[in-house]
Amino acid sequence: MPPSDSSSQPGWSVTIARALGIPIRIHFTFLLLVAWFGFYGARVGHAPGLAVLFLLALFACVVLHELGHAAMARRFGVRTREIVLYPFGGIARLDRIPAGRGELAIALAGPAVNLALAVSLAAGLALAGVEPLPGERLLVAWDLVRHLTIVNVALFLFNLLPAFPMDGGRVLRAALTLAMPTDRATEIAAAVGQGIAILFGLAGLVGGNYMLVFVGLFVFVGAMQENAFQRERSAVRGRTAGEAMVTRFETLAPQDSLRSAAEHLLATHQRDFPVIDAWQRVVGILSRDRLLHGLVQHGGAGAVLEIMEREPAFVAPEDDLERVLEALRRKPGCPVLVHDGARLRGMVTLENVAEFIEVSKRVRPAET
Ligand code: ZN
Repeated sequence: MPPSDSSSQPGWSVTIARALGIPIRIHFTFLLLVAWFGFYGARVGHAPGLAVLFLLALFACVVLHELGHAAMARRFGVRTREIVLYPFGGIARLDRIPAGRGELAIALAGPAVNLALAVSLAAGLALAGVEPLPGERLLVAWDLVRHLTIVNVALFLFNLLPAFPMDGGRVLRAALTLAMPTDRATEIAAAVGQGIAILFGLAGLVGGNYMLVFVGLFVFVGAMQENAFQRERSAVRGRTAGEAMVTRFETLAPQDSLRSAAEHLLATHQRDFPVIDAWQRVVGILSRDRLLHGLVQHGGAGAVLEIMEREPAFVAPEDDLERVLEALRRKPGCPVLVHDGARLRGMVTLENVAEFIEVSKRVRPAET
């Protein structure tokens, strides 16, 4: 389904394979679908094994679709962090989605894979000739290929529906950006997407197809989020990390105890603490979540060193705030540190970017 640049980390998923250097993970809800397919297959008289085999072949097509997005993204210099399989399809999580032509090409690459698969499978069927007679063993394989052909045609058409943030919606947005600013294009694509999502939901409710209701909900929320991301991005365009950073904050030392870190957390409004060693080097960052988790695991006597994030993202004060937003999304809950090469100057969190946007909106450009 859609390539996504959103940050939500998939909990409840495990890596099952790697392709093109990208981890392919399945979400636990996917196992429910496998079970349902086995059950449904048995109910309509197929061997449960056959239904599950079909499901696995179907998801191989979905993985190939996502790898199509990933391979095209790579051509535009964009890394794919992972591919996650959900019951309603797959998601390729990209580091970022380039604007315009890049977005168009990446969005089209997925459905193009399904089209190619459908054409090859149909050609295979045509070469195999007429349908085998019932009772022949070939019938099972023939039927499987026939169903997979139909599935790939369906995946091709379904993904090209202009329901942003699905592939077709991205194609729509990329096309609209040729004629108008990205913000306006995103707004329109998101509104169309949400309209279609509501139709999905209604059709699903009327027809008793709850998967469709789920997809509708997913598209609706996805469109809303992407629209919000886009607004945020355009609000910070041209501004720098140095303008938005927090400059007054406390730091911790690596050997500090978690008890004293907890005291800092209580005594200040600060949630994240840069960790600085005796030579004034930044060696990590301790977030509120890590601290709370660490207190449970190690108790108050544990050291900051043991639980801190050791690879925080760094930017320079003059770096683009847009880039900072991307880094914040890549590691949710971990602030980006602003370093001028000599010392730590500040840090940027999602909250203070939001604050910066609110202040900027109210200040006339001449004043800033
Ligand atoms: Zn797709």
